[in-house]
Amino acid sequence: MTQSNIDPLEIDKFQSIASRWWDRESEFKPLHDINPLRVGYIEDYIGTLEGRKILDIGCGGGILAESLASKGAKLTGIDMAEMSLKVAKMHLHESGLDINYQKTTTEEFAKGHKEQFDVITCLEMLEHVPDPASIIKAAASMLKPDGHLFLSTINRNPKAYVLAIVGAEYILKLLPKGTHEYQKFIKPSELAAMVRSNQLNVSDVTGMTYNPINQQYKLCRDVDVNYLMYCKAL
Ligand code: SAH
Repeated sequence: MTQSNIDPLEIDKFQSIASRWWDRESEFKPLHDINPLRVGYIEDYIGTLEGRKILDIGCGGGILAESLASKGAKLTGIDMAEMSLKVAKMHLHESGLDINYQKTTTEEFAKGHKEQFDVITCLEMLEHVPDPASIIKAAASMLKPDGHLFLSTINRNPKAYVLAIVGAEYILKLLPKGTHEYQKFIKPSELAAMVRSNQLNVSDVTGMTYNPINQQYKLCRDVDVNYLMYCKAL
């Protein structure tokens, strides 16, 4: 039943490029480039990461998970792409970090981990999943009563279509063609509704924009395309 919240084509897409997770010039360059911004955003809200028990949902090759672990957090990373997890585990030999990586669905993992985590992150993953609300529900159930949830995804509107698909995949070629499907983009209002129906409060929504001239990303108020959301228990 829970197996159905996976799009096998999405998993295949990531499997086929998994060897390049840690190549900063590869398809994963944008994730490497935005990573310091995301880590900074998380730290701004929760302070020190030292000793925090964190679950990273859709961890891929571990770009975010490693950054958080390198600041003293105790990381578990879950994903459904086996090759990505292999790469993530191999990279631990290089970084010397200790992260618990597991191949499991969020829903299945949630069954044995009620109220276990101080922080849960699920970044750039919800727009690849058939039922994002089910992921949020499972994530909410795994948060400790005073836990923090960080989400990020892509807004759904004509500007997001032009910038995130036409611009990023076809013109600037930052991402492979077919990386994103417009229908799976999620409006902040929709994501907020999913969050609120799980007794969580949306504390902040912040945008992330890309400047093709200087090739820099920055956090901003404009949430029209990429955005981050910070949620806390009510
Ligand atoms: N969160 C990471 C990687 C984002 S890429 C980061 O931001 O750096 C999206 C990831 O979601 C991929 O690793 C992909 O394998 C994973 N994914 C997609 N659908 C999934 C599902 N249903 N369950 C678990 N992981 C999934």
